[in-house]
Amino acid sequence: MIIITESTATEEQIAQIVAQVREFGLEAQVSREGARVIVGVVGPEPMIREKPLAAMPGVEAIVPAAKPYKLAARDTRRAASTVEICGLSIGGNSAVALICGPCSVEGREQMLNIARMLKESGASMLRGGAFKPRTSPYSFQGLREEGLRFLAEARNETGLPVITEVMDARDLPVVERYADCLQIGARNMQNFSLLREVGRSHLPVLLKRGFGATVNELILSAEYILNEGNTNLLLCERGIRTFEAGTRYTLDLSAVPILKAKTHLPVVVDPTHAVGLREFIPQMALASIAAGADAIMLEVHDSPEHAKSDGEQALLPETLAKLVPRMRAVANAIGRDL
Ligand code: PEP
Ligand code: MN
Repeated sequence: MIIITESTATEEQIAQIVAQVREFGLEAQVSREGARVIVGVVGPEPMIREKPLAAMPGVEAIVPAAKPYKLAARDTRRAASTVEICGLSIGGNSAVALICGPCSVEGREQMLNIARMLKESGASMLRGGAFKPRTSPYSFQGLREEGLRFLAEARNETGLPVITEVMDARDLPVVERYADCLQIGARNMQNFSLLREVGRSHLPVLLKRGFGATVNELILSAEYILNEGNTNLLLCERGIRTFEAGTRYTLDLSAVPILKAKTHLPVVVDPTHAVGLREFIPQMALASIAAGADAIMLEVHDSPEHAKSDGEQALLPETLAKLVPRMRAVANAIGRDL
C-alpha cells in the first residue's frame, strides 16, 4: 500500500502518518515527489487499518498495492467460501472438520479397522495415501489402485468421504474413480502442470503448502487451480523448514489467520507432518483450532510401530478419542462447532 499526502501537508503531519504506520508494526518508506510525499508501507497488509489512516490530517489517498493473485483474494468475494465434500461442509461458519487416517493405505483390514475407529471418535473425513511421495525410492511407495479400492470400501462402510494424494497427472483418472477429494502434497505445490490438471477435475482439492514456500507462493499455486475453473479448493499449512531441529518441520500457525485474511478459501492445518512427533501433536492440534483452522488433518494408526510410513508421528486411535472433546472445547470457545 502507498499513502499519498496532500501537497499542503506539513512536516508534522507527515511525521504523524509515519508514526501511525509504525504503530501498526509496519515499516514506512518516505519518498518525496515535488510538494507531495509518498509513504510506502512495507509489511503484512492484514496489520493495516486503513480507515484511521485515511482520516489522518494530510492524507490525500491510500492506494492498495496490486496483489499478484486475483481469484483467491479475499477482496474478490466478501464471504468466506465453503467446500462441500459428499455433504460435509468445510469453511465459513461450518463446524471444524477432522480429517484422519493413516499416512499410507497398507491393507484392507488395516483401512477398515482404522476407519471404523475414526468414525466412532467423531472424524468427519478419511485420509490415506495410495501413491506415496517418499524421499527414498526404496521406501514403500503405496498400494496404488489396490489402496484406492480399500479406501473406497472404507468410505462405503463408514460414510466418511475419502481424501488421497495424487502425485502425477497420469494417475488422476484412476484416483478420481475412487476418491472424494484430491490431495496435492507439499512436494508438488509448485508442480504447475499437475495443478492445472486438478484444476480441471470435478473433485475438490486440498493443496498443501510446500515446506520451502511462502504464504504468497501457496496462494499463487492455488491461483493455478482456480484459474482452470475448480473453485472447490482447500489450503493446508503442514509446516515449513526452518533452523529448528526439535520438530520435523515448524508449524507456521500465523499462516492461518493470514491466509484467511488474504483469501476466501478454507484453511486446513496438518500438525502431524509439521511436528513429526506423536507426543506434541495434540497440543498443536488444539492451537490450530484456536488459530482459526477450518479443518484439522491428523495421522492415526492402530499399530504405529508396524506402519509402513510415518509411524512415529501417528496418533493412536485412543489418543484421538480423548483429543476430540478437547478440540471441540477449543472450537466452542471461539464460537465454532466441531
Ligand atoms: C501426507 O499427507 O501423507 C504427506 C505426504 O504430506 P506432505 O505432502 O505434507 O508431506
Ligand atoms: Mn505421512
